[in-house]
Amino acid sequence: MRLKTQVTIVGLVALAGLMVGLALLARAEIGPLLAMQRAADGLERVALLDDLVHELQSERGLTAVARRDGVPEERLAAQYRRTDRAAEAASEAGVGSGAEPWRLGQTRKTLDAQALDLEVVFALYGRAVEPLLREAEQLMGDPDLDALRGSLGAHALLSKTKEEFGRLRSQVGLLLARPGLPGAAIRALQLFAVFESRMEETLREADPQLAGALHAALGSAPMIAVREEVERLATSGSTRGAGAPAHTPAGWFALASSAMDGLREVQRGSLASIRARAAQGASDARSGLAIRAALVIAGWLGSCYLVFVSLRRLLATIRRLDEQSRVLIGRLHAVTGAAELSAAPESRVGFVQLIEQVDRLGRQATSDALTSALNRHGLGHVYLAERARAERHGRPLSLVLLDLDHFKLVNDRFGHPAGDGVLRSLAALLQRQVRGVDIVARWGGEEFVVLLPECDEDAGAGLAERLRAAVAAHAFEVPRRVTASFGVAQARLGESLEDLVRRADVAMDRAKSLGRDRVCRASEEVAACADATFSTARQAG
Ligand code: GH3
Ligand code: MG
Ligand code: MG
Repeated sequence: MRLKTQVTIVGLVALAGLMVGLALLARAEIGPLLAMQRAADGLERVALLDDLVHELQSERGLTAVARRDGVPEERLAAQYRRTDRAAEAASEAGVGSGAEPWRLGQTRKTLDAQALDLEVVFALYGRAVEPLLREAEQLMGDPDLDALRGSLGAHALLSKTKEEFGRLRSQVGLLLARPGLPGAAIRALQLFAVFESRMEETLREADPQLAGALHAALGSAPMIAVREEVERLATSGSTRGAGAPAHTPAGWFALASSAMDGLREVQRGSLASIRARAAQGASDARSGLAIRAALVIAGWLGSCYLVFVSLRRLLATIRRLDEQSRVLIGRLHAVTGAAELSAAPESRVGFVQLIEQVDRLGRQATSDALTSALNRHGLGHVYLAERARAERHGRPLSLVLLDLDHFKLVNDRFGHPAGDGVLRSLAALLQRQVRGVDIVARWGGEEFVVLLPECDEDAGAGLAERLRAAVAAHAFEVPRRVTASFGVAQARLGESLEDLVRRADVAMDRAKSLGRDRVCRASEEVAACADATFSTARQAG
């Protein structure tokens, strides 16, 4: 696969990764928002059920007193219409199926036709209200509403409390409509006690705002009057006599309804505050989502841009490298004519080969083909580096130049290939004799140079003397003693290699002229050079 394709694939994978990351993030962010939306819908349905329950409670209460106390037909009809509207709204929202309008209609028809006992009427309405309360409670248990759990619990309790009050209103209305009903006073008292105990429970669960509103409703004039009426009923022990009720059924109904409306208002306020909190949560989630989505999209676009720019740059570099390597290959091919280069890298796969070729050619350019020692060109680079180092550390640097004596004769007598062999052996011998840091190079022909870091001229002369003795003592491949003449010079500050070699060459020439096979220093007098050789000769002798 071409590198360009590989790079493109990597880029696409990176972009795909970014997109998947974005999608996951969006999912994580949108989840709470959707939950909030579902919560708001759930609360809407709770509100519709609350409305329907309230209307059914009113219808129940009104029906309880209607026939005996001359409640006008229109008033009852108006209540029916209100109940029907609430039932329709609820059933449109998919709740309150237990109180569908046609079912209510049926119930009312049955009531009219059979002139049923009011207690039965009460029970029928009670049976319609209870499932609705359960349905509302179930909606409030929705896990999406978890954040509002406490408030919803208090609201559900309040709905039940209100239902107890609704029962009280209807039952007391019934008692007043049918005086002399046995056990009636006790029943009223019991219902009020149940209402009060429910209310206590609700108050325990209520937050301060709801508790305050409930206390206000409990302290309202209608509620106080309701309590008094119930107490009067209880103390009278009957619905007649001294403690006889102060209200007609219709009067009672109006009074209890007014107290119940107070509870209804509290219930409305409680649900409104819960819905406001849910709406606030949804709006917070929405705005948080918008900000985060904007950040994520900006980050994503930025990353896409960076990936795109990097890919373009990378591909452009590859293309440039490719072109340059082709040009280079063409040139190398023209210069060397090397067969291996004819398999020139057409693509990046061959680029490493090209580097290897260039490296090999570089090494070839700096080393001598016959002896493998550094050539003059290579020595030039090494010298500059060594001179810089010596000057930086204030250390000496010396150079030895040596030239084989009467080498022409070797060639003449034993042939050129034998002469080559001597040169090769000499290079190897020098390499063996010098220190690891010293550099042996072929200067040209039968002349060699040894560069000596950390050596002044004295030390250099000492090493040259050792080399001279080694050459003179070495058995080369020709049946003739081979010797060399040496010139030693210490580099001066900033001195060029050519100048340094020139000075060493002068010393070496002096060694030649003084009889060869000896070491001369660039800084010394002729006599000293002769002495040195003399002393060496003596040592050798
Ligand atoms: P001296 O230096 O002692 O004065 O005498 P010489 O005979 O060595 O002097 P000269 O510089 O005149 O001769 C150098 C000879 O080295 C000439 C040349 O044939 C030989 N020579 C140079 N390069 C090579 C080479 O690569 N191989 C061989 N075999 N001989 C070489
Ligand atoms: Mg020579
Ligand atoms: Mg020579």
